[in-house]
Amino acid sequence: MTDWLDFDRQHLWHPYANIADPLPVYPVIHAEGVYLTLANGKKLIDGMSSWWAAIHGYNHPVLNAAINEQLQSMAHVMFGGLTHKPAVELAQLLLSIVPKGLSKIFFADSGSVAVEIALKQAIQYWLALGKPDKNRFATVRSGYHGDTLGAMSVCDPVNGMHHLFHPVLMPNYFAPAPHCHPNQGLHVTDITALDRLLDQNHSHIAALILEPLVQGAGGMRFYCVDYLEQARVLCDEYEVLLICDEIATGFGRTGQLFACDYVPHFTPDILCLGKALTGGYLSLAATLCTDEVAETIASGNPPVFMHGPTFMANPLACAVAKASVHVLLDSPWQQQVKAIESQLKTELKPCQTLSQVKDVRVFGAIGVVELYQSVDMAAMQNCFVKQGVWVRPFNNLVYLMPPYIITAAQLSQLTQAIFTCLKEHA
Ligand SMILES: *Cc1c(COP(=O)(O)O)cnc(C)c1O
Repeated sequence: MTDWLDFDRQHLWHPYANIADPLPVYPVIHAEGVYLTLANGKKLIDGMSSWWAAIHGYNHPVLNAAINEQLQSMAHVMFGGLTHKPAVELAQLLLSIVPKGLSKIFFADSGSVAVEIALKQAIQYWLALGKPDKNRFATVRSGYHGDTLGAMSVCDPVNGMHHLFHPVLMPNYFAPAPHCHPNQGLHVTDITALDRLLDQNHSHIAALILEPLVQGAGGMRFYCVDYLEQARVLCDEYEVLLICDEIATGFGRTGQLFACDYVPHFTPDILCLGKALTGGYLSLAATLCTDEVAETIASGNPPVFMHGPTFMANPLACAVAKASVHVLLDSPWQQQVKAIESQLKTELKPCQTLSQVKDVRVFGAIGVVELYQSVDMAAMQNCFVKQGVWVRPFNNLVYLMPPYIITAAQLSQLTQAIFTCLKEHA
């Protein structure tokens, strides 16, 4: 085993890693339900759902069967000039559950690419309307939309790598991150700041891009429903498209199927989905838009939307995504997320008593412990593994977003491990 681990150490990049001096990585040989099994036989309860994706847990019989069945007919064919049932059936299913008004789907292979597609659709939309100057984007601080260049340009300018890539990033427009909490009323100053930004710059802005209600990797922040609702109003007022990035929040994580569903009768012009779309099995993402956006792009010159990934609408990924959405809809996911939420609220509260803890917050099946300072990643990770759990903090954020199928006892083990490891590494 040390052989292949040595090879990994010497030759493989891991996410956001120093290739010359990498932090330890833990070899996994099996994953089942909420458990990851390490090569030494140790089983860990997964608190991360493999970055929001594995909502049903691992090695799910229905998802396995969907892939196996699709594999018998075809693993992949190009989507240029060809089509197939897995793509069509997944699209039918998604259109029946997303906010009303979204009617056209572009399948891509990762979340970042789905965001690039959304940005490009917004640019082509305004080009078609004879407004080529509307080619920049507005967003709020503390956001995260992916790691490709276009996506990075709408990530938080401070923690989003802008200092490194600044010369090649689109110069976009940033409003302050909203300060209200999900169940609270609007902070008027938040919305007036967005109003001012759009008022002054709307002639250059193609779209406002937001993660609805939950800002994920940009800071694990939650904000209120009213802000999202008001953002829609302002976008209409200033003729700016609204892109909702539900790559992290989609498929039940916040307690609604989509975070947008918290606002009655709310539809973004463009919606990005990814992560949990396939239940964590394969990389697939989707960018959906309204008839209005699609038809306007089609009225332009060229009338085609200029994007076409090699692995667009991969049949295996579409088949498992369809199965995953059905498993979700057939499950008591709403009760599961509610139960996780209330348990996280109760059991993470004691962390508030620790001196290094700045804030504890919970929304849907997402629990966050924010510290004053960044954690010692290697030490914390080692502590979590000793406690029999898989929790991967980033910077000063220790957080949980477990698979929905987790039991109360398993979740307690996760929350207790966070308290224990924070106490040990105060
Ligand atoms: C993870 C994420 C992305 C990027 O998705 P990848 O599949 O990692 O490219 C974009 N937006 C949000 C909100 C995300 O959480």
